[in-house]
Amino acid sequence: MPTYNAPLRDMRFVLTELAGTERLRGLPGCEEIGPDLVDPVLEEAAKFCSEVLLPLNQSGDAEGCTLENGVVRTPKGFVEAYRSFCDGGWTALGADPEWGGQGLPKSIGLLVEEMICSANMAFGMYPGLSHGAYAALEKHGTPEQKALYLPKLTSGEWAGTMCLTEPHCGTDLGLIRTRAVPAEDGSYRITGTKIFISAGEHDLTANIVHLVLAKLPDAPPGTRGISLFVVPKYLPTEDGRPGPRNGVTCTGLEHKMGIKASATCAMAFDDAKGWLVGRPHKGLLAMFTMMNEARLGVGVQGLGIAEIAYQNAVSYARDRIQGRGLDGTKAPDKPADPILVHPDVRRMLLTMRAMTEGCRALSAMAALEHDVSLRHPDPAARQAADDFVQLMTPIIKAVFTDTGWDAAVLGMQVWGGHGYIRDNGMEQFARDARITQIYEGTNGIQALDLVGRKLGAHGGRYLRSFFHPVLAFIEAKSEEPAMEEFILPLSKAFGRLQQVTADLAQRGLRDPFEAGAGASDYLRLFGLTALAYAWARMAEIALDKPDAFYKAKLATARFFMQRILPETSSLAAKVLAGGETLKAFEDAAF
Ligand SMILES: Cc1cc2nc3c(=O)[nH]c(=O)nc-3n(C[C@H](O)[C@H](O)[C@H](O)COP(=O)(O)OP(=O)(O)OC[C@H]3O[C@@H](n4cnc5c(N)ncnc54)[C@H](O)[C@@H]3O)c2cc1C
Repeated sequence: MPTYNAPLRDMRFVLTELAGTERLRGLPGCEEIGPDLVDPVLEEAAKFCSEVLLPLNQSGDAEGCTLENGVVRTPKGFVEAYRSFCDGGWTALGADPEWGGQGLPKSIGLLVEEMICSANMAFGMYPGLSHGAYAALEKHGTPEQKALYLPKLTSGEWAGTMCLTEPHCGTDLGLIRTRAVPAEDGSYRITGTKIFISAGEHDLTANIVHLVLAKLPDAPPGTRGISLFVVPKYLPTEDGRPGPRNGVTCTGLEHKMGIKASATCAMAFDDAKGWLVGRPHKGLLAMFTMMNEARLGVGVQGLGIAEIAYQNAVSYARDRIQGRGLDGTKAPDKPADPILVHPDVRRMLLTMRAMTEGCRALSAMAALEHDVSLRHPDPAARQAADDFVQLMTPIIKAVFTDTGWDAAVLGMQVWGGHGYIRDNGMEQFARDARITQIYEGTNGIQALDLVGRKLGAHGGRYLRSFFHPVLAFIEAKSEEPAMEEFILPLSKAFGRLQQVTADLAQRGLRDPFEAGAGASDYLRLFGLTALAYAWARMAEIALDKPDAFYKAKLATARFFMQRILPETSSLAAKVLAGGETLKAFEDAAF
């Protein structure tokens, strides 16, 4: 069975030394953030994940969920684990104290989420979806809706879902057919079919709060005509307890590649009673609140999988003996050396490590800005921080989830044939990771979001929230000899990014096909440059520190700069080549 030790040392490093807890402590509600508060939370989370969630990961995968007469059962042990999860206060970690939450910042919440995703990503889907429902209702719900639902979602007594997808529409939500008809009592009657609904039905909670996109009778066509509704599985009674069953049922469970313990449901809404959330026809806007949070969360799923795949690849590479080292025998007392000595195995492990630690660093930087964007008293500071989060959200979602998949595949490769064997648990990481590149907007759609919505937004303001600090950092450090090996590659990659950004913006304005043709490569170029910035900053902190942790940081930073970052050169060439070859190919020839 795979093992997992939460990377607490690295988590503390990115939180306190890289992102910096001083800035966090300056925010209202975060004054107490320090080791006395953070360490016990992270240590308890680590313990819960290793002792409760990890042991259910393989069994949950093997057993999956079952559907019988409309009732979905989660795998053995999930109900008890969920109960302990709620009792431990983990559902309430980031929620507002007004609703019974602990009010901890995202900077801590994302670290805990990473641990959950490493230990048992399928389990994490249930509280993850509830968290998204909480975010949408908190921002757009009426005071009555908040008072009714938020305490229950915070305690974990009730769970949430996000019902967007229909059989004929996933990416293009303007096509949805689910209808909402106003009723005389101010509620609505919702009718339609939703598919692929994570946590749509299960046995973990007393009630399930569905957030559903539907169209009102007078809806304008397309995405401008979508409204958001809250549709509980059981209609709440006057005193807020689950009452009569609503007209919403699970009609099928998907059989899928991974996250088998997460129930992916087809849902029928049959004249179900629901209430409007936010304004009529503005549902997509409200859903975006949830989606931005969820996209960061999905990115962290990728990071979590990458971490556990790395840990188990390293431990295998230390134990497995095959062949002799190319630079001499390393274990003369044994018939062969551990595979850890082989350069190709080291390449795989360091690639996994450099990407994983880089993503964790970028995640901590984004989480801090997220906290500033929500809590800072000065609106200008809030906006500046939000600009960075807006820009980084599609990058984090796509690059982190690609990292999760790549690391899972590399982890299997380190294990050789044994990685392909189910009992060893490595192939599950690949199967679980794969969906993260698809849901919450495919990674291709993230790239379009970056190029189409984020680059030009507010006259390039989002872009400046990254470009300016990177430029300032390069300028400030370019005279320091010890930093040269990090600053030089960073500034080269950054130069490429600037050039390609200008080129793509120009061509994209003339012809949107050109923007679309370069978008995915551009996103990766941007992502790797952002990771290089994070690595250069980490290297600066690690310089001259004798501790083994910092020495390994520096060594990993060198690997990233020399063996991963050069990919930006080919990415730039691909984007600059333009979209003509894509356009010119005859449809009939495919
Ligand atoms: C396990 C699982 C869990 C899920 N959970 C949920 C959930 O809880 N709630 C929910 O509502 N949905 C959920 N989904 C649905 C998921 O979000 C969608 O599958 C995803 O958004 C893609 O939609 P689609 O499958 O219809 O693909 P399509 O939209 O048909 O896309 C197919 C391909 O075309 C590309 N494409 C489509 N449009 C464009 C475009 N304009 N430009 C460029 N490329 C384009 C896509 O990138 C993709 O590669 C889940 C799906 C799965 C498999």
